[in-house]
Amino acid sequence: MWTLFRPSMLLLLTLGFFSQASAQQPDKIAQLQPVRQTPIRIVATVNFLTDLVQQVGGSRVRVEGLMGAGVDPHLYKASAGDVRKLQQAHLIFYSGLYLEGKMMELLERLPKAIAVTDAIPRERLIQPPGGFEGQYTYDPHVWFDVTLWKLTVGRVRDALSKVDPAGASSYQANAEAYSKRLDQLDAFIRQQIARVPPGQRVMITAHDAFEYFGRRYGLEVRGLQGVSTVAEAGTRDVQQLADFIIQRRIRAIFVESSVPRRAIDAVIAAVRAKGWNVAVGGELFSDAAGNPGTPEGTYVGMMEHNIRTIVGGLLGGTP
Ligand SMILES: [Zn+2]
Repeated sequence: MWTLFRPSMLLLLTLGFFSQASAQQPDKIAQLQPVRQTPIRIVATVNFLTDLVQQVGGSRVRVEGLMGAGVDPHLYKASAGDVRKLQQAHLIFYSGLYLEGKMMELLERLPKAIAVTDAIPRERLIQPPGGFEGQYTYDPHVWFDVTLWKLTVGRVRDALSKVDPAGASSYQANAEAYSKRLDQLDAFIRQQIARVPPGQRVMITAHDAFEYFGRRYGLEVRGLQGVSTVAEAGTRDVQQLADFIIQRRIRAIFVESSVPRRAIDAVIAAVRAKGWNVAVGGELFSDAAGNPGTPEGTYVGMMEHNIRTIVGGLLGGTP
């Protein structure tokens, strides 16, 4: 790794541009200037991050989210209206790790745009040995491990305190309260998983978002990709997956709308032909929380919904 360092990067290092938390980017928080006016105008990208910023900011901030329920952050492009909002904001929060792929260049260039995942030590990130396609170095879906997402709370608190020093004690208190809530959420997820017999803690899903979830909470995550991308639902893949489902006594598959339904149907039919029954589990929230004003519209509510749905599906109840 060190051999990849170029002289210009070494220069930045000696100038102290690199924070302890982020070994890769200059720390923008140190460069933020106080605003001396409330409410602080903030823009956040994904809606579960908008929620986090609101929790920490409380009444001293006005947070506007760019991406609502059901929006795919990997594909989201900033509209002209978004660019205006970003320009007018005092402070911007985004998740980072190329989650907001199409906005990344813009966000990285803006001095007031803070990537909250810079708070996570790189050694705790998932980096597949073969690497990812495209621009990803790390798996960006860190919020599925509550202990990782909790690390971003401090980064939001620090940035807010820098632009609004008068609110620092309020941000500190809010951050502590929200971190406690996240500890409870983490414990709740572990309790729920414990209800599933160890051999059946398997999540079959088409989305690549659940690797951190599986690692933290002891679920084997198995993809449907091999099945869903093959035309005519490749019979060998289908049979292999059907055998696996029966062997492990798995009762539910978790899908999203992007997966061709006929691939799922082929797997379910193959399983039934062999005398076992598997169902499609309920809908999971992956890269966006639900609608505002609903319990699933918050990060905590979205995660609680997911774990109830997963455990309900794996135990064979109605999700
Ligand atoms: Zn994703």
